[in-house]
Amino acid sequence: MSGEGKEPQAIRKLGPGRLVIASHNEGKVREIGELLAPHGIETVSAKQLGLPEPEETGTTFVANAELKAQQAADLSGLPALADDSGLCVDALGGEPGIFSARWAETEKGRDFAEAMRRVEAAIAASGTNPSRDAHFVCALALAWPDGHVEWFEGRVDGTLIWPPRGQKGFGYDAMFLPEGGDETFGEIEPDAKHAISHRADAFRQLVAAVF
Ligand code: IMP
Repeated sequence: MSGEGKEPQAIRKLGPGRLVIASHNEGKVREIGELLAPHGIETVSAKQLGLPEPEETGTTFVANAELKAQQAADLSGLPALADDSGLCVDALGGEPGIFSARWAETEKGRDFAEAMRRVEAAIAASGTNPSRDAHFVCALALAWPDGHVEWFEGRVDGTLIWPPRGQKGFGYDAMFLPEGGDETFGEIEPDAKHAISHRADAFRQLVAAVF
């Protein structure tokens, strides 16, 4: 885990009550709400509260999750949870990493088929017989209005295949073959992905620590 040189603080427990999900992505907010409901947590989204989306100026997944969570906690006066995620490719020194969404930008908007082509081209250009190892990362940050922050980082390892396979996922899923599997994240059922994903790993750590 990397916390930008910060010393981890003692774990703070999260009691029942309202929690802001610092995301404007409704799908993500709903999924997180369902995961936390059994723990007596009522979620409200940053969008519902009319909170702005901060610029992601951090240099790590944790730093970006933290700045989103802390801003939402400061502005709402409630504890807030944010995530940041992406694909890290060994042959590219960890890129696209925190820039995973940016690699999909085109003149016509975000295009992940194009992002996957860019990743494949960059791997091919990186040397002879380059490694195809990669991992997804998900950082979660839980911030309180008094400045206390807890963070958790989950990951799932795999290799990148070409051409991409499967339509069930999103982002870079169709080129990601999880370790030990023979179907990509684009081919397996969503429930199977949710059991092994970087997001599931990070949430397991959060649930074990704060409830
Ligand atoms: P964000 O954390 O919502 O900003 O996501 C960053 C980007 O990482 C997404 O737009 C996706 O391209 C990529 N990404 C994150 N998680 C996944 C995943 O589970 N599958 C495929 N792509 C992902």
